Amino acid sequence: MPSWMPCQKRALQEYRNDGDPEARNGKERVLLRTLILFDIDGTLVTGGPAKGAFRLALQKVYGTTGPIDGWEFSGKTDPQIARELLDVAGLTSEEIDDGLPVLWEVYLDELERRMESDPTRILPGVVQLLDGLDRHSDTGLGLLTGNVAKGAELKLGAVGLANRFSVGAFGSDNEMRNALPAVAVQRASEAWNVSFEPGQVVVVGDTARDVECGRHLGARTLGVATGRFRPEVLMEAGADVVVENLEDTERVLEVLLT
Ligand SMILES: [Mg+2]
Repeated sequence: MPSWMPCQKRALQEYRNDGDPEARNGKERVLLRTLILFDIDGTLVTGGPAKGAFRLALQKVYGTTGPIDGWEFSGKTDPQIARELLDVAGLTSEEIDDGLPVLWEVYLDELERRMESDPTRILPGVVQLLDGLDRHSDTGLGLLTGNVAKGAELKLGAVGLANRFSVGAFGSDNEMRNALPAVAVQRASEAWNVSFEPGQVVVVGDTARDVECGRHLGARTLGVATGRFRPEVLMEAGADVVVENLEDTERVLEVLLT
């Protein structure tokens, strides 16, 4: 778990207090029953300088951006995007692998530098929804994103959301998005000392790839059409529920918690 993600959930604090008879006195142990995993881009936030920073980093480190204009980024992990672009540009996988550590360094420096003048923006309803979820002490919140972990921190930190999630799985954990839900669940299980069944997990995202990775785990999925994809596309990908956006807090809470 990245150090930037403080465990703020009341449930976690209470659980940790459980071994202390004083703390347990008169207090019911709160067990987490639901784990909700949020995508970042197009789901929680939009905009920001990531693509420009990524372009500059690719050019600086590899001398090419590959066919970056018009390339499909949605729902892919950062390393997957880099590999696809550089592969088309003719680099070998060894050449790609060799440059990746420096690529992330340059990208993250540039992302941070540009974020102040071109910050990400919170999508409508997100804060109200997170506030609503925070009132449910049996519900844990995590991230499930193709961003490298530090990139996720920068994008959410710019809008004050970085401390709203206790655990996460990132593009820096695995290049394949379908592998990420299991990573997030494993971290949540360790953080809260609870084993989550797939049916207790909900994946929230704006792309068919979010839906697919949730289904890969056997989780429930909520598609939210605030990215580039229409509700029909998310439905077709197999989302259990699709909403236009996260603005109807009561309805979204009901979907997530039942
Ligand atoms: Mg997204």
